[in-house]
Amino acid sequence: MQRQRKKIACVGEAMIELSLGSSEGAARVGYAGDTLNTAIYLRRNAPADHDVHFVSAVGQDPLSDRMLAFIEAEGVGTAYMRRSPDRVPGLYAITTDDAGERSFTYWRETSAARTLFTDDAGETLAALSGFDIVYYSAITLAILSPDARARFFDWIDGFRASGGEVAFDSNYRPKLWPDVATARREVETAWRKCDIAFPSVDDEMDLFGDVDAAAVSARLEGYGLSYGALKRGGEGPLPIGVTLPVLPSYRRVDKVIDTTAAGDSFVGGFLAEHAQGRPIDAALLAGHDCAARVITHPGAIVPRDIWFSEVS
Ligand code: ADP
Repeated sequence: MQRQRKKIACVGEAMIELSLGSSEGAARVGYAGDTLNTAIYLRRNAPADHDVHFVSAVGQDPLSDRMLAFIEAEGVGTAYMRRSPDRVPGLYAITTDDAGERSFTYWRETSAARTLFTDDAGETLAALSGFDIVYYSAITLAILSPDARARFFDWIDGFRASGGEVAFDSNYRPKLWPDVATARREVETAWRKCDIAFPSVDDEMDLFGDVDAAAVSARLEGYGLSYGALKRGGEGPLPIGVTLPVLPSYRRVDKVIDTTAAGDSFVGGFLAEHAQGRPIDAALLAGHDCAARVITHPGAIVPRDIWFSEVS
């Protein structure tokens, strides 16, 4: 049977990343954000004839131009990125103290991405309706205005009813939400409206106060989740909604360099298999293998030359 070519959108916010060294004279500029990280690892894992797009809003400034060029150089589509006339991308700086401990400082409250699904709602949602799979996270939800969030949820209902698949990861960042009750309410709504679920045990316990992984699973089952992966760090993921006679054999990384983007890259690897119609055990293993590679490198995005020269 001929494989169907899939169109997949990752929706969210990407920021400019400044990595500051010890001297004042120089900073390294990068671009990152959970859903962009997923788009990039999905693109690196999916067959070339699948379309992967990043959908967000940026400005019309030179740094936005450079961010788009970076995304396009990864083969990720930017045709549905909105260019705000009066806003610019969010920014964060990474500084490292004498003990090697990293700190993150953010300037993101007025980023262009915060206007997603506001003025542009009709146009961007209409564009998303042309995709087969739409992926977003709780960070995407947190940066949207309450109106935009409600509009997006309504759109999801119609998209799913017409056969589209929605994938969601609850990446919980307390500082992005006005309070825990709002975060719980919105994330629960998102779980109830998703086809492919990517919860992680830690995020779910932090947000919902579950006592252990079994309690997380029981609560999620109650929402009727029927497919996906419960991420459990180095233990490897459990399937959701499907019983496997044996779990895939997950390799554990003992020398972890940096866990940034572990969950994001897991989703990229999983979705690349799922989009090709492969079974869940193959998707779980591909997600795990992708994340296990990423955490042996510093930073969210392993440079392309290193990624493609490595034998996985
Ligand atoms: P999140 O970052 O979303 O909270 P996890 O911490 O569970 O999620 O990590 C995401 C994925 O990264 C895991 O499902 C697993 O596949 C992989 N992973 C994390 N830590 C390790 C490790 N020590 N060895 C191998 N894989 C790992």
